[in-house]
Amino acid sequence: MRDCRQNLLVFCLVVILPVCMGVTRPAGLNDVTEVRHWSYDDFTRVVVELTAAAEPELHRLAANPAAKRPERLYLDIPGIWVGRKYSEPILVGDGLLQDVRLGQNTLQVTRVVIDLQRYGHHKVMVLENPHRIVVDVFGSKKRSSRSGRPVFNGKGPRLAVGLRSVNTVIIDPGHGGRDPGAIGVGRVREKDITLRLGKKLQTQLVKRGFNVKLTRSTDKTVSLEERTAFAEGAKGDIFISLHANAARKKSLQGIETYYLDASYRPNAARLVARENGITTKNADALQRTLGRMRVSEASIHSSRLAHDVHGELISGILPHYPGVQDLGVKKGPFYVLFLSNMPSILVETGFVTHRGESKRLMKESYLDLMAIQIADGLEDYRKGILSVASTGVQAQ
Ligand SMILES: [Zn+2]
Repeated sequence: MRDCRQNLLVFCLVVILPVCMGVTRPAGLNDVTEVRHWSYDDFTRVVVELTAAAEPELHRLAANPAAKRPERLYLDIPGIWVGRKYSEPILVGDGLLQDVRLGQNTLQVTRVVIDLQRYGHHKVMVLENPHRIVVDVFGSKKRSSRSGRPVFNGKGPRLAVGLRSVNTVIIDPGHGGRDPGAIGVGRVREKDITLRLGKKLQTQLVKRGFNVKLTRSTDKTVSLEERTAFAEGAKGDIFISLHANAARKKSLQGIETYYLDASYRPNAARLVARENGITTKNADALQRTLGRMRVSEASIHSSRLAHDVHGELISGILPHYPGVQDLGVKKGPFYVLFLSNMPSILVETGFVTHRGESKRLMKESYLDLMAIQIADGLEDYRKGILSVASTGVQAQ
């Protein structure tokens, strides 16, 4: 009975509605479920959520002042049906984007048009689980205090990563809410460990004079692009994502620290898949996609940050817990790192599937020590950046 009703509903949605609108939807297409956007001082993120994977083509179209047409970006998404679901533009009006419009360009292709008010550069990412396309548009914008309307401050982008001082640290406790992350011995959940450690790390960093923001401070679901959009919006100088590992081989244990790299590393496929919310099968494709992209300037600093943090973690923990394995600093293609434009690392704090390590990760004193060591690592990095910056000033 329920099936019959469902079939009828599907029939109405798929066949009757489009016919009423004068267009028949071809079979086998997928849908747009949601369009979201976030605005920050110098960038805007648009996310188009789909019911299935799609490969968008992005184009940029120059402004046409005679036709009063603004500069625009448009994405053609084959295999997606949007029909007339978005008959009105989605207004943004933040000084960078005017609006986002969606329409059925051909029977097989949905077009997403982003009308721009200002343009610097853009970045497009295709993510999974749920399937979505993320478009970041960068450019400077500023709101006028008198009118409240966005105006442009005429300044260029933020200082180059290497010249910025390190004030604001974004702590990203991995997973949360509907996503428990890895589940280990004694039903230990990764999302609980990362949140507890994240809060302890916040305390340690505040003591050291850092400004700290958490991507989540409760047990809630936060998408990867929300985490990184938050980091950019908060003008973070460093992004540190906290995780716990899992393995089929129960004897595996240890700490490893990752920074972004697109290099091909099939043996890390399972970890790459889990932390990106994709299937293992698709981890290879992700690695290949990232391999074609330009790795930003921030990644050079990420490598240094990873070594500073990992060095302090290992030197501080091993004397007290000789059983902990040093799995080293590694490179990995993680969306959460790629989507942020600041030096970013991902710390895998230990294996919840290892009996002893799982127990350690549940201990307050162990997490306290780990927080102190990570904070020390961030302090080492800050000192390094300061010395580079002051050398630069003297040279001028
Ligand atoms: Zn994780």
